[in-house]
Amino acid sequence: MKNDLELVAQHAGGIPAPTDQRFATDLMKHLVVPTFVLDASGRVLIWNRACERLTGVRAEEVVGTSGHRLAFYDKDRPTLADLIVQGRFSEIQSLYADYDVTSSGEFGYHAENWCVMPRVRTRLYLHIDAGPIYDSDGRLVSVVETLRDMTIQKEAQSELERLASRDPLTGLANRRAFDRFLGGEWQRGRNSAHELSVLMLDVDRFKQYNDRYGHPQGDACLRSVASVLAGAAARTGDLVSRYGGEEFVLVLPGTTSRGAKVVAQRILRAVESLAIPHEDSAHNGCLTVSVGVATGDPGEISQEALIAQADSALYRAKAAGRNCVVCAGDDADH
Ligand code: GH3
Ligand code: MG
Ligand code: MG
Repeated sequence: MKNDLELVAQHAGGIPAPTDQRFATDLMKHLVVPTFVLDASGRVLIWNRACERLTGVRAEEVVGTSGHRLAFYDKDRPTLADLIVQGRFSEIQSLYADYDVTSSGEFGYHAENWCVMPRVRTRLYLHIDAGPIYDSDGRLVSVVETLRDMTIQKEAQSELERLASRDPLTGLANRRAFDRFLGGEWQRGRNSAHELSVLMLDVDRFKQYNDRYGHPQGDACLRSVASVLAGAAARTGDLVSRYGGEEFVLVLPGTTSRGAKVVAQRILRAVESLAIPHEDSAHNGCLTVSVGVATGDPGEISQEALIAQADSALYRAKAAGRNCVVCAGDDADH
């Protein structure tokens, strides 16, 4: 029975190659792409030079063994090729940062992961392709794994995602990130009872602040308010975002109306204690904010309706004299 590597050699035709596996093996050894090959029992058949350079692990250390498992990670865990050898396809998704679910035995399996290469201590984001090779009876003979360093692309992508989701002035999540976050909360919450609170916050008399102190000072003021908000909603899972202009929105999943009111009051006091001078303010000549709070269960109310409730509560807080919190359904609370 000839396997695929032998068939490569046999069909080489005009290529000046011997008819045994040596040509194919040598070719693979000198490929510039880091490549290794496992046999059907998960032992290393080939570990090429580029793989040695990538991992710092030499071929003679791993060929004939399963020691390759320690070349990429600082703990003993299977490589993509191991998972294919062992038929553990259902585990791939959970073991990799990204996995192409359309992968197949015919066209190979494709995944991506952060690897640490403990020998050389370089943390790289690798794109991994692993292709099974079968004999003519359909039995697995070996698995070829190739690795591509995608660290620069991954970091650029992460930076782009960060820039696309952050407000440049305050560093908070922007409106786009807010919309996406809320959409996710509604998707999650629709199936399980799970209350969440939305706090809509607006800086009081901010137009007059800009007019009196200038736009750059106004920007500095928005940054100070933003840092108060970031500190007030520090629970994992909370989102603080700049909704637009001098308006901010906090989303507090799993927080009741009562809890949200406490957070809102805390924000009011923290902004007061920033003591940002604002001569047109009716509150001790200092800058203040107003907050509208709405609480609901995504299974029972649409996100648009909840935001509208928070917005109209905010409107009532303004009408009640500013520097106060109004919860949808309640009276103003100074
Ligand atoms: P109210 O108490 O009713 O909220 O009054 P207000 O003056 O705060 O509200 P208004 O909507 O009339 O004015 C908002 C102001 O916020 C006007 C706009 O110039 C200012 N603003 C919006 N975005 C920024 C920004 O990025 N930087 C600065 N400095 N000002 C901004
Ligand atoms: Mg406003
Ligand atoms: Mg305002």
